Parts: sequence; structure tokens; C-alpha cells
Amino acid sequence: MKTLGLLGGMSWESTAIYYRLLNEIVRERLGGLHSAKLLLWSFDFAEIAERQHHGDWEGAGMLLVEAARRLEAGGADGLLLCTNTMHKLADQVQGAVSIPLIHIADATAVAIKRAGMQRPALLATRFTMEQDFYKGRLADKHGLSPVVPDAAGRDMMHRVIYEELCQGIVTEASKTAYIAEAERLRREEDADSIIMGCTEITMLIGQRDFDIPVFDTTRIHAEAAVEFALG
Ligand code: GLU
Repeated sequence: MKTLGLLGGMSWESTAIYYRLLNEIVRERLGGLHSAKLLLWSFDFAEIAERQHHGDWEGAGMLLVEAARRLEAGGADGLLLCTNTMHKLADQVQGAVSIPLIHIADATAVAIKRAGMQRPALLATRFTMEQDFYKGRLADKHGLSPVVPDAAGRDMMHRVIYEELCQGIVTEASKTAYIAEAERLRREEDADSIIMGCTEITMLIGQRDFDIPVFDTTRIHAEAAVEFALG
């Protein structure tokens, strides 16, 4: 089994979910006492979020690169960047190490295409919904046609992620708001599926809340990582 290096703590609420999923999936595959071989670098998320919101992506990139190199030096065979948003810097991280970075958007796109879907509603941080690094990759590399909420919807989703989910707060009101926005995208923008494109959204909603396919990037990413580790 290969060793996975996790760039985590963005936020630790979702990294904790990754930790459980990676170990559960390895146990499902190998049985008995088997568990995942992992190295974890866990950031102080306040230091990352501050750079994100001040547009200091260069500074954030330097932190990620330094941590990725440490994970590689520590023996990681592959890297997982445990956040959709920070995949804005995926190429920079990949360029700084010689082990592969398992890209969350690629793994998600493969799952969407395998399910025969084409026009997913992308629910995520404002960075992920508004900039091109994620939507563009889904479109250009994978031929998908993602749709995103309007400005008010994007603000609501972003606020819930940073002010609630990343701080361990899960409320009925936010769950209702997320479901309503996704349903609106389905009705008005012809979305045929939903990407939970932020690794904390799985704390709030899931397939049980919808009757169109839901793609949970946290789980999909963890499954792709185990595939790499055992493949
Ligand atoms: N974990 C989140 C994501 O998947 C948001 C936190 C971050 O900005 O990294 O995008």
C-alpha cells in the first residue's frame, strides 16, 4: 500500500472526515485490521483563510508548497489537497514535488461522467464558484457544463462555509437555504446533478436531500486516493 500525504486543516472539520473515510475505504477493500497509511500536514486555517480573503494567493501557495515538500520528504507517495478551493494552486503544488497530486476536480468529473450527467450545479466557496480554476477544468478538460448560483446564492453559500461549517456549526436554516438554491438551479438552469464542491458541505446536505445525483467531492476524492494507494 502506498502512503498518502494529506494537505489538511482547510478546515480540520473536513480533514477529520477524510481521515475516517480513507481508513474506512481501506478497511472495506482489505478487511480485518487494515487501515490507510497517511501523513497529515494540518494548517492553522485562520492563516490560510486570511490570505484567501486578502487575495494573497502567492503567500498561500508558498505555504502549500512548503508543506507538500515536507510530506514528500517524509515519505508520501501521493498528495491529497483536502479542499476544493485550494486547488486554485494545484499546478503550483504539483510543480514543486515529484509525487502525483490526486486532483479533486478530475476525480469528481470522472464520477459525473460515469453517471451520465452533464450539467452539474456547483455548490462551493465563492472562490471556486466564481473563478475559472475549477469550473474551467470541468468544462475544458472534461466537457462538462457546470452552473453556479447567482450572486446572492454564492454569498450565502460562502458565508455558511466559513462562518458555520468550517467552525463546526450545522444549522437547519442553512441546510434549507442550500437545498432551496440547488433546487432553483435545477428548475431555472437545468442542472441535472449537484456537486458538493466544498469538502465541508457533506456536513450539511447529501444525496438523501435530492432526487437527482449528488457528487460528494470529499468522498470521491478519498475513493480516488485509496484507488491510487492500492492500485
Ligand atoms: N474546504 C473547503 C473547500 O473544499 C473550503 C475551505 C477552503 O477554502 O479551503 O473548498
